[in-house]
Amino acid sequence: MNSLLKKQCMIIGDPVDHSLSPAMHNAAYKKLGIDNIFSFTKRKVTPNELESLIDEVRENNIRGLTCTIPHKVEVMKYLDEIDLIAKKIGAVNTVVNEGGLLKGYNTDWLGTVTPLENLLGKGGLKGKKVALIGAGGAARAMAFGVIQKGAKLKIYNRTVSKAKALADELLAEAAGLGDLEKVCDADIIINSTSIGMGDKKNISPIPAKFISKSQIVFDAVYVPYETKLLKDAESKRATIIHGIEMLLYQGTAQFELYTNQTALQDVMRQSLLDHFRINATT
Ligand code: NAP
Repeated sequence: MNSLLKKQCMIIGDPVDHSLSPAMHNAAYKKLGIDNIFSFTKRKVTPNELESLIDEVRENNIRGLTCTIPHKVEVMKYLDEIDLIAKKIGAVNTVVNEGGLLKGYNTDWLGTVTPLENLLGKGGLKGKKVALIGAGGAARAMAFGVIQKGAKLKIYNRTVSKAKALADELLAEAAGLGDLEKVCDADIIINSTSIGMGDKKNISPIPAKFISKSQIVFDAVYVPYETKLLKDAESKRATIIHGIEMLLYQGTAQFELYTNQTALQDVMRQSLLDHFRINATT
């Protein structure tokens, strides 16, 4: 099939430095033998270009979009329909084009609860005490996910008013980073800040002394693969969840929306791990 006639999905952002998502989707298309029908690309789209990109999606019948920073909220005003969960989260990371009708979804919350339920079992989040560090875009979906599954949530953020605003929406608690010692009481600690990546890659958002063996520590940061927070948690013999697990499961849910086929988790995980030259053990 001519590549222009393929059902095209695209990750958009400004900048878009996400080569991991195209790699994971294309690896699964190939393995399923549907790479002659589907292809997944990436494109830098500035906020000023978003409206014309949406016109292009309708005109050229582009099958799907994966929206990253800064488009997750702004894209909502151009869509025909928004899934109830995405409305509640207040952000869309997935757009599906059904014959010209554009519907928005949010799969980031599944990227949060699926790795946790893989460890705890279905329903295992109910009643668990979760300490979420950060109150930005990623935190919204993560907070919604754990609350949806019945966890007790406390949000810690540098800007306390942002933690409080998000906590108020979800009937959760809020605190500043000065209260971080209280994460000792949590069953699960989640980092949704950008601390641990880029020029902050040698920093952890939480002092290691507040982490213990009985806890699960989940870092949304996925570059580097092993963040300082996860290294500290491992040294305390806590159970860890890498950021690529979130990337994987928000991606498998998207895959199913785009293709109507069951996602190949193992193929998609290995494609992410290949980026870091790590072999999957599961
Ligand atoms: P964002 O909306 O810009 O929020 C950033 C958060 O980090 C805010 O809570 C901010 O606090 C906090 N923060 C930043 N610098 C800080 C510092 N020096 N000290 C203390 N707090 C600081 O970003 P986002 O979209 O939520 O993304 C956050 C992280 O999640 C990124 O690393 C991103 O790569 C990762 N992420 C991963 C996945 C995945 O699939 N694994 C998906 C989405 C995002 P203030 O409110 O005080 O500014």
